[in-house]
Amino acid sequence: MIKFVYLNKEVLVMSARLEVITGPMFSSKSATLIQLLENATYARKQILVIKPALDKRSVETEITTRKIIRGRSTVINKFPANNVNTLREFRKALKERYFHVLGIEEAQFLGPWIITAVKELLSERAHDDLRIIVAGLDMTANMEPFGSMPQLLAMADEVIKLHAVCFKCGKDARYTQKLGGTSDRIQVGDLGLYEARCRQCHTPNVASSS
Ligand SMILES: [Zn+2]
Repeated sequence: MIKFVYLNKEVLVMSARLEVITGPMFSSKSATLIQLLENATYARKQILVIKPALDKRSVETEITTRKIIRGRSTVINKFPANNVNTLREFRKALKERYFHVLGIEEAQFLGPWIITAVKELLSERAHDDLRIIVAGLDMTANMEPFGSMPQLLAMADEVIKLHAVCFKCGKDARYTQKLGGTSDRIQVGDLGLYEARCRQCHTPNVASSS
């Protein structure tokens, strides 16, 4: 008689994974992230969400989805989050409680430490039921790779690349257009300062460099 060796199916199936949601502004990155986090909640997963503290558009302890309603950028959904700006703060947040899903919002604003942090976590919990979902802009308004996003995209098991609609001509938009303000790469803003544009309608850096 043949004897079967039953392996723990859970152990075989489980594998830590990294998913990255990217695209220009107004491409529903946050909405997609929040939807995935909500789905994980329904599946009774423990969730931890981190975001950089410099995003002053939203309330400190939540990530938000915005929609343009009657010409105004309006918050339509939100999810609790922790402000994290350094590797030390990241490790501290991780120690505070167990989680199956780690959401990282506006990852382009986090320093290069986020690459080390994600690598470490994927390695430490390689055979665990861990899902890291990163959302962030892939390019600056000058069409340059943004912060640590290129590395995170390269490391990802899955990439969701979202498009927006060009505010000028209505075609598919892959780029963020800055309408003014400073030439700083990091200038947090929303409707009025930025638009989504297609390649034909995009003009790099209209801001004054003074
Ligand atoms: Zn266009």
